[in-house]
Amino acid sequence: VGGLPAGARVAVVGADAAGMSAAASLRRLRPDLDVVAFEQGPDTSYSMCGIPAYVGGLVADAEDLVVRTPAELRASGIAVHTRTEVVALDSAARRVTVRDLDAGRERDEAYDALVYTAGAHPVTGDLPGVEHGHVVHTLEEGRRLRQVLDARDDIERVAVVGAGYIGLELAEALVRRGLPAVLIDRNPQVMPSLDPAMAAHVERALVDFGVEVRLGESLTGISAAGGRCAAVTTDRATHPADAVVLALGARPRVALAQAAGCAVGSSGALVVDERMRTTVEGIWAAGDCVESRHIVSGGPVNVQLGTHASKQGKVAALDIAADGDGPARFPGVVGTAVTTVCDTEVARTGLSTAEAEQAGIAVAETTFGATARADYLPAPGEVVVRMLAEVGSGRLVGAQLVGTGNVGKRIDVAATWCQLGVRVQDAQLFDLAYAPPFGGVWDLLQVGARKLTRTLGLSPVL
Ligand SMILES: Cc1cc2nc3c(=O)[nH]c(=O)nc-3n(C[C@H](O)[C@H](O)[C@H](O)COP(=O)(O)OP(=O)(O)OC[C@H]3O[C@@H](n4cnc5c(N)ncnc54)[C@H](O)[C@@H]3O)c2cc1C
Repeated sequence: VGGLPAGARVAVVGADAAGMSAAASLRRLRPDLDVVAFEQGPDTSYSMCGIPAYVGGLVADAEDLVVRTPAELRASGIAVHTRTEVVALDSAARRVTVRDLDAGRERDEAYDALVYTAGAHPVTGDLPGVEHGHVVHTLEEGRRLRQVLDARDDIERVAVVGAGYIGLELAEALVRRGLPAVLIDRNPQVMPSLDPAMAAHVERALVDFGVEVRLGESLTGISAAGGRCAAVTTDRATHPADAVVLALGARPRVALAQAAGCAVGSSGALVVDERMRTTVEGIWAAGDCVESRHIVSGGPVNVQLGTHASKQGKVAALDIAADGDGPARFPGVVGTAVTTVCDTEVARTGLSTAEAEQAGIAVAETTFGATARADYLPAPGEVVVRMLAEVGSGRLVGAQLVGTGNVGKRIDVAATWCQLGVRVQDAQLFDLAYAPPFGGVWDLLQVGARKLTRTLGLSPVL
């Protein structure tokens, strides 16, 4: 950037997790800069993660998910323009063209540095009748779905297509509010980020909760009657449904930045360095639209999670504030994720067996079930643990946990081991917390580390 002088203008494209994390940090670090943000939607800085709970009625108002409203952001010194879409980006002239979506007018806005945080857009495909499906990738889309569910008392069944964590959370939310839900996916298992044996436990939790699960079925279309969704068709069946939610995944929204010359990597997301700088001078990027390094495999990945978006936004801000010489480096990701599905906690980190194979890492695995707490306590809970370690070195490569009790705490320990390349033979003696309500004297992860140490012929086996 060559030194951003006082009064220099930083433009932010997109005003949610990554963008507002960057903007708020910049205001704090460099109050002398002019920070302006353009957001095509009506909302800013909200928790997308809470949308399934809102659709299910656990959260009363969509506004409860908003962390900072446009007015609050403006009061903090961030000039947010909502319902304002960035339609062109000229990196040579350092200028964006924005369209005021209410007035229908376009104008140019200059910048000295730009933070591109346009997120990802849901995949819907172009199957017949797809316009009758709902996606829930913004608060506005969540409001639309909830309005349909609230307004109609004749809904007998809702179809959710896509059995990733978002589809699962939505199917559960629908059943919780008393609406029968059928969950459809073309894969033979739910949650493709888990190994099949672990995914089978999640599928059982869904079925026991009352979700109808149809796997190995590919969506072929949505049929409507009287302008309303009537059924979803797959290559194997027709499922009557009064509403359908498409949770088919999301692609990084890169078009504007790519047209401005920013390189796109093999994951389909923007290439950035550890300071979140794109390949074009003066443009930083963060969040769902960027590619990260997977610390275990070393390969490029696009992991769309709020936790990364928020951290990457801050790293970008530190770099801009320090005139392109920021002290923070985003190290990459290990693919850690946690959720609850129908009262069952599900968590994973590192590589799955298939991912390890793709990365050319030979692994040994252990899978076992145990109680989550001391088993003399009432309701000790059950957890199924799966761990993978590298043949030869013993480095922990991945872990997956499904069950009821302390799964979130344990996955963070495993994530730290994966990130630091801890070997299972060493992990056995790590100083982890113990008391009966939390686990056994030997934590489940240390039991797994011992099993893997033995399987791999490493020493010592404790
Ligand atoms: C239902 C659901 C549940 C989730 N649950 C979790 C969870 O439990 N844990 C977790 O870590 N993550 C979760 N996520 C993911 C998390 O919400 C995202 O990773 C995070 O919001 C990404 O932040 P972002 O700022 O990169 O992108 P976004 O939040 O998508 O923000 C991008 C913004 O840019 C705007 N925009 C795009 N293009 C333009 C343009 N041309 N002009 C102006 N504005 C533009 C968009 O309108 C949008 O507001 C969930 C996501 C969904 C959909």
